[in-house]
Amino acid sequence: MGRNAQASVGFIGLGTMGREMAHNLLKAGHKVRAFDVRQAAIDELVAFGADAATSPADAARDADIAITMLPDTPQVEDVIYGADGLLASPPRGQLIVDMSTISPVAVRRMAADLKAKGVDFIDAPVSGGPIGATNAALSIMAGGDAAAFARAVPFFEGMGTTINHVGAAGAGQVVKLCNQLICGINIQAICEALALGRASGVDLDQLRKVLLGGSAASWMLDKLGPAMIGGDPGAGFRIDLMLKDLRLVQEQALSLAVPLPGTALVTSQYLDARAHGEGANGNQALFRVYDRMTNQSSEAARA
Ligand code: NAD
Repeated sequence: MGRNAQASVGFIGLGTMGREMAHNLLKAGHKVRAFDVRQAAIDELVAFGADAATSPADAARDADIAITMLPDTPQVEDVIYGADGLLASPPRGQLIVDMSTISPVAVRRMAADLKAKGVDFIDAPVSGGPIGATNAALSIMAGGDAAAFARAVPFFEGMGTTINHVGAAGAGQVVKLCNQLICGINIQAICEALALGRASGVDLDQLRKVLLGGSAASWMLDKLGPAMIGGDPGAGFRIDLMLKDLRLVQEQALSLAVPLPGTALVTSQYLDARAHGEGANGNQALFRVYDRMTNQSSEAARA
């Protein structure tokens, strides 16, 4: 396939991230045949110019590549191995790329199995959130065979700006889990600073602005800080999805006997948030845990 030829993509999983990524593939000039278990999500993509598929197999049949963007490992396994899954009718290009965050162990197992069936599998999780997905500015960290990675690059270029091949099958997921470990602990650190500032009577908007100009600046403080301070629960990246990632981090760490005390503490706080009904809210809702521990809230501080 020449870089300028119109290539076709079977895209499965049109949620917060997949919807934007599939849309950007259309904008980059690719043909997209889209599937999701939610018909409304398919209809939305069709309005952007995609073709509607009736199953994963139908999405991928005549495609150069199948791309999945699903919640967790069981959904990816289902889309590949289930009835009307990708293996029932693999893409013409014999290339499946999963961009979800899932278990590196499952990735290695699936990559070996698919290789034996003549299909290349690349794990290519992403960082950058819904904003990065919308702006086609994701960081994409890929694992798998180098030649298969090279075939996927023209598609990655439609969705991201930082594209790295980081090793063999599963390596993309390991790098992503390291990314999530840092994100979780960083969100917790921001919550702690905001709790201290609030209890001390400091204006939190100003605190955030000042911190962004110094060595404590971070993507999370920049992008999630306003929603934390304002108490906006809107979900870009849900508490439930971060808990899934923290579970994957801990599974990987335990299997290698690597102690991660920071991750263990943050996981407990995310579990506290979920137990208080925040699972479907955005990660900024972790600050509610500190509301409870301090018996304060942003609303009360502003009143
Ligand atoms: P989401 O829940 O918004 O979207 C998942 C989509 O998959 C939904 O539309 C759902 O209907 C669909 N789906 C579920 N099971 C399916 C199946 N069997 N067949 C077809 N479709 C199915 O999740 P998201 O926020 O888009 O995240 C997707 C993945 O990307 C997750 O692994 C997440 O951890 C990761 N991720 C998310 C973000 C973020 O900020 N939201 C950032 C980076 C990575």
